[in-house]
Parts: sequence; structure tokens; C-alpha cells
Amino acid sequence: MYDIAIIGLGPAGATLARLLDKKYKVIAIDKKNEKMGKCCGGLLSPDAQKILAQFDICLPKEVLVDPQIFSVKTIDLDNSIVRHYQRFYLNMNRAKFDNFLVSLIPSNVEICSDSTCSKIEMENGIYSFTFKSKGVERTEKVRLIIGADGASSMVRKTFYKEKKIDRYVSIQEWYKDKTNPPHYSCIFDKEITDSYCWTISKDGYLIIGGAFPKRDSKKRFEILKEKVKNSGVSFGELVKQESCLVSINRGLFSTCSGKNGVYLIGEAAGMISPSSLEGISYSMESAKILADIINSGCNSIENKYRFMTLGIRIRLILKILKMPFMYNKYIRKLIMKCGIGAVR
Ligand SMILES: Cc1cc2nc3c(=O)[nH]c(=O)nc-3n(C[C@H](O)[C@H](O)[C@H](O)COP(=O)(O)OP(=O)(O)OC[C@H]3O[C@@H](n4cnc5c(N)ncnc54)[C@H](O)[C@@H]3O)c2cc1C
Repeated sequence: MYDIAIIGLGPAGATLARLLDKKYKVIAIDKKNEKMGKCCGGLLSPDAQKILAQFDICLPKEVLVDPQIFSVKTIDLDNSIVRHYQRFYLNMNRAKFDNFLVSLIPSNVEICSDSTCSKIEMENGIYSFTFKSKGVERTEKVRLIIGADGASSMVRKTFYKEKKIDRYVSIQEWYKDKTNPPHYSCIFDKEITDSYCWTISKDGYLIIGGAFPKRDSKKRFEILKEKVKNSGVSFGELVKQESCLVSINRGLFSTCSGKNGVYLIGEAAGMISPSSLEGISYSMESAKILADIINSGCNSIENKYRFMTLGIRIRLILKILKMPFMYNKYIRKLIMKCGIGAVR
């Protein structure tokens, strides 16, 4: 019988597993192994850097990639305007970042990678969860289940089906970087998506990606590539394609923190910026809050966790309010034409 089962070892699950008190018997399950990376831009925002600083964690240089980026080229194809805005991200290798966070988990936590959780049930206040590890199916009992399993969270689907959240399809392709100067651009084009697209240079590769409504997502991605090519960017041989779902939290009540022994952290809880799709900081922050509450031995985890994540929910609501300034083509045109905040 385990005290806590963490489903998912992205930034949220790995942070929680690292911070939980050693008195708990903890198991952490992830369907990835250390060679598999998440489909992600791999940019560490200032908020995420601040949280790592609060944890007193420094990043090893192996996690970083070449080049580091100081501004984003914002390409508004709806209005044919280009501007540069200063940014303070760290450009990293996302798989190495996730592996680094997992490497910090203390040895008392039982880690099962390459293991997919397929079923969770509750009987008389005790949960049982089933997962396949190294080809062997295991069913174990546990007191607390933590869903840290990202946008396509099976924990959220199993227990909080009624808490709907929009999910888009993210597609990225990695090309050998040909002759381009290093790139970091955000592309806005209503014909392609009502979210946004991007190009990022990483260690000799050019990534072209975007977040698209599920309908016609592949077709939309092809249009994006055509438009990027027509704008003069040349890309070499295709190295890999990756895709995943991304939560677009546009509702004021789309976040779900959980109750009755099943709690959600990170993107599974809907904690991701709907405007920039930045989510690593919210994942680590929500994990830290939940770890502190569990470690304190508090009996009403549900109420305390909801209360303590109020700050995150308010910040996400502010991001929703910011969206028209980014995604309404008339307001965006006005802002970009004025050059407010742009690098001249
Ligand atoms: C294309 C794209 C680009 C992005 N770019 C950035 C960026 O540049 N910067 C940024 O801050 N954020 C970015 N984000 C958002 C960021 O990736 C997420 O918000 C962040 O990864 C969420 O962390 P998490 O730990 O909550 O979930 P995840 O990182 O998604 O981790 C979930 C983990 O759960 C595991 N899992 C899922 N289901 C199961 C199961 N049934 N059994 C076992 N394990 C399971 C998965 O293998 C995974 O390891 C991007 C997202 C996308 C889609």
C-alpha cells in the first residue's frame, strides 16, 4: 500500500516527487523514458527561472542549447507587420530539462518510467491503480493519487470529466538549419490558427510549430510551412515530426485542482498560460504548493490547495484578459503599429 502515487513525471510530477517528505511511501509512474522528449518549445520563462531560484536549483549547461535568444520576432501575417520584442527566456533541450528534474528525486521514491497508467478505481476510500511496467501489468493500492499527466490527463478524464477544457493539437517539425540566421519568431495568422505558431533555432535545427484547432490541424500546419517558406526562410532536411495536445484554458473556471484524495497539478489541472502556452512555471509552482500542504499533514488538502493556488488562477485569468491584445487582429495592429514595447 502506497501513500501517494504520482502519475506523470514532467516538471509538475518530478517537482512534487522531489519535495514530498521521506516519511511517505511514494511511487511515480511515467509513460516516457529518458530518451523521449515532450513536444515543446523548450523555453524557460523568467517565472520558471524564479521558481528554480526559490528551490536553489542551478541548471547544468548541458540542459541549455545554442543559441540563447534575446528577442522574439513577432510576425503578424494578418496585418503584414513585423516587430521585435525583448524576451528573457532560456533556450533549452526539453528532454534534458525533464531528465534533470527527475535526477533530483530522492531514492526513496519508486520511479517507474516507460510505464503507462491505464486504470484508477476507488473502493471504500482506497484507490487502486493499474499500470504496465516492462511488459508486466501491476495493480497497487494507494491513499492519494496525484494527476501530473499533462494535457491528455487520464486522471482528469477519470475523475473530473465534467471539467471541460479546450485542447488544441500542437505539431512541430525539426529541420536541419540551412543558412538561416538564428530564429525565434511568433507568427499570428487567422487563416492558420486562432492560437499562434513559431519558429525556433536549437542546436543546428530549425523547429517550425504551432497550436491548431483539432479540425484540419495537419492541413493548417502545411499552410504554415508554405507561408514560412514564402517569407524567405529556407529549411533543410526533415529530421523529426512530433505532436501532442495542449490545453487552451480560455474559461474562467477551467482549472481543476481536485478533491477526495485525487489532486491535479500542472497542465493536468489546466495551469498553463492560454496566451503564450507557457506552462513549466505553473507546473512547478502548483507542485510545490501541493507538496507543502501534504507534508504539513493537513486534513483538508482540497480546501487548502484550492486556496493556495488562487494566485495562479488569478494570473491565468489575467492572461485570458490579455488575449484580445494578442489575438484580435485590429487591437494587435494598433499596438504593433504604435511600437509599444518593441525593440527599435
Ligand atoms: C508545442 C508546445 C510548446 C510549448 N512550449 C513551452 C515553452 O517553451 N515553455 C514553457 O514553459 N511551456 C511550454 N509549453 C507548455 C509546457 O510544455 C507544459 O505546460 C508543461 O510541460 C506541463 O508540465 P506538466 O508536468 O504539467 O505536464 P507534462 O510535461 O505534459 O508531463 C506529463 C507527463 O505525464 C506522462 N503521462 C501522461 N499520461 C500518462 C499515463 N497515462 N501514465 C503514465 N504517465 C503519463 C507523460 O509521459 C509526461 O511525462 C509548450 C507546450 C506545447 C504543447
